[in-house]
Amino acid sequence: MTGNTIRVGKVEIMAVADAARLAGPCQMVFPHIEASAWTPHAEHLSEDGKSMNMSITTYVVRSGGKTILIDTGVGAKERPFMPKGRLPEALIEAGVPLESIDIVANTHMHVDHVGWHTTQVGESYLPTFPSSKHLFNRMEWEYFTSDAVANEPTNAHIRDCVIPIRDVVDIELTEGEYNLTDEITLVPSPGHTIAHQSFVVRSGGEAAIMWGDVCHHPAQVTELWSPIFDMNPEQSRETRERLLQRIEDEGMLLAAGHFPFPGFGNVVRVEGKRYWRGLE
Ligand SMILES: [Zn+2]
Repeated sequence: MTGNTIRVGKVEIMAVADAARLAGPCQMVFPHIEASAWTPHAEHLSEDGKSMNMSITTYVVRSGGKTILIDTGVGAKERPFMPKGRLPEALIEAGVPLESIDIVANTHMHVDHVGWHTTQVGESYLPTFPSSKHLFNRMEWEYFTSDAVANEPTNAHIRDCVIPIRDVVDIELTEGEYNLTDEITLVPSPGHTIAHQSFVVRSGGEAAIMWGDVCHHPAQVTELWSPIFDMNPEQSRETRERLLQRIEDEGMLLAAGHFPFPGFGNVVRVEGKRYWRGLE
């Protein structure tokens, strides 16, 4: 890792934080888990052991001549329990002009993943990346932009981050497995949302996965717990187990956008159990 960038064969993946630090209260996010069950994971908790050390991290991927941004963080609008993000400034600081992004891709359509799809200017919501192609999963898009779901009180982010770009930017809806470039494949990883998807990178004999919210915290790599945010907690657990097995079988590097920034690491076995180990 150089700075916040890794290389996977010929592909470059740069972590860019919308919010570098986020504290997730353990009991709120995993109300069914006893406090003592967190003890083996103390290194990724606050000092009092009550909150998870997390981040809201996006990834800029360079592959096949394209610059691809995966997710846009939480944005800077007023959101309950959420910090205000600073992705546009962070991209510029990282040497990534906003207009250089060819494709804005998406793991799923929750509030902390489409936040900067728009920027609020007075009463208006304008696309932050007006000249980029915007990629969504079709099933995810159709679910979240349906009138009934978009109008739910908890889905303000659909109304102010997604609906305003619908007729304004170039949108492509994909289905199932989809080859984004010769080196990047979108793979279904449902459960957290109806059609959550992950991004598998293969290049030069190396492999990595950017898996959105399959896990929010390193403890889940070991314990497979499903948080209250998962739409279908049984399905998300199956997805978690399946992808972790694949990561082990294929020796993939893992990029996890809510793990402590920059979220790059490996899955290792210690006395038969899986653990996440961040890259040094
Ligand atoms: Zn998230």
